[in-house]
Amino acid sequence: MKKDHHNNAKQPNIILINCDDLGYGDLACYGSTRNDTPHIDKLAAEGLRFTDFYMASPVCSASRAAMLTGCYSQRIGFADYQVLHPGQAQGLNPKESTIAKQLKEVGYDTKIVGKWHCGDQPEFLPTNHGFDEYFGIPFSNDMGRQVILRNDVGKPVQQPNYNLDGSPLPLLRNNEVIQQQPDQRGITERYVDESLQFMRRKRDNPFFLYLAHMYVHVPLFIPKQFLNTSRNGAYGGAVACIDWAMGMLDAELNRLGIRNETLVIFTSDNGSRARNEGGSNAPLRGTKGQTWEGGQRVPCIMRWPGKIAAGTECKGIAASIDLFATLADLTGAPLPADTTIDSISLADAILDGKSTRRDTFTYYKGANLEAVRKGDWKLHFWKTEWSVDARNDKIVPELYNLRDDASETNNVYEQHPDIVMEIEAQADEFRRRFGDRRLNCAGNEIRDVGVCRNPQPLTEYDENHPYMIAYYDLADMPTMNG
Ligand code: MG
Repeated sequence: MKKDHHNNAKQPNIILINCDDLGYGDLACYGSTRNDTPHIDKLAAEGLRFTDFYMASPVCSASRAAMLTGCYSQRIGFADYQVLHPGQAQGLNPKESTIAKQLKEVGYDTKIVGKWHCGDQPEFLPTNHGFDEYFGIPFSNDMGRQVILRNDVGKPVQQPNYNLDGSPLPLLRNNEVIQQQPDQRGITERYVDESLQFMRRKRDNPFFLYLAHMYVHVPLFIPKQFLNTSRNGAYGGAVACIDWAMGMLDAELNRLGIRNETLVIFTSDNGSRARNEGGSNAPLRGTKGQTWEGGQRVPCIMRWPGKIAAGTECKGIAASIDLFATLADLTGAPLPADTTIDSISLADAILDGKSTRRDTFTYYKGANLEAVRKGDWKLHFWKTEWSVDARNDKIVPELYNLRDDASETNNVYEQHPDIVMEIEAQADEFRRRFGDRRLNCAGNEIRDVGVCRNPQPLTEYDENHPYMIAYYDLADMPTMNG
């Protein structure tokens, strides 16, 4: 295997920060005028900012499983499991390789702090996927017990809660539930503390820290100091807390003297809901859960002092599924020997300023192929969109030039039949591999999702237990979560 970039140099520490539902337009360094993000802006000024970085799914579970395995989520069997629920039988197949497993093979210590969401049954938890340690809430923060406030009445509604009398929200250390219904206002501070302690303990050995924030997924519970200084309500407070966490990690890197030997990657699992909570995908069209750019194109910043040129920008097509090969390249970790992955190393692009080698990207919504990007062009075939009122499925023969028209407003389908044909051919290739349910096409490269025979929720409601109950406003009520 070629290892141009590794050269037996000291392996970098890797800190991968993944936000939940943070939109393309939510950071000041990506154009936000509503949120203040000085520490993340500094990260961008000291490193590389991607303009065209994609997550493989517009919702949580499939996005995260794809990033960790370097595979489109369809390949690893997640087409029908875009969002996993508490106690669900499915999860990331323990046979799959992950970034954490690969890094362990070359001596890394590994930890995930925060949201896992690749299956909550014991065989699917992080400790079975290459992580030495886990601390966090294993799925979305709206999947515990909560009382919903009607925004027009302003008092608790006596309805079964949103999660069908769901199990209490668990907080895990490794595979053990250590708390139920934790106060979400304090969770991010606890995540930061766990992260800093890990960095201190592992300062002399290369480490991989995956910090998967709870924010800015709704409902939003915000510490007062961030709420009081926000110009953008609770949402701005959540973004400020993510920014504070970045500052804390950075200060610790400096204090430990390991800043220059640490690669920091900052991104988000999918676009913003962009409803009335304060989130934004500007200037992109669409939202979380959609295959418009706003659903899957997310902020991504990488900083590695002395290795990645400061204040630079990468405009090539890049994707979270490329992190797997990139990190293998940078650390000397092996790629899986007998398993096909979809990852293309970004090492040339981030270290040498070359163009990215990825020239296509495919946008699936569940099992349906909805769009394909090739070079600057994106062809939409099909849309399954959820609005507040209805589900709307339709054929959309639309072609956009993303270089000139990132907002996907000017459909040039009629003007470019040659490009349409070229992308159609590329789409057929993706359909052959990953299927397309709408066209009754079964993919021939799809592997099995993990299945647990006797799934059990991690927690069980006990009416005598003094739980902390989370109250939130119906205005923040997701019509689909993830
Ligand atoms: Mg998400």
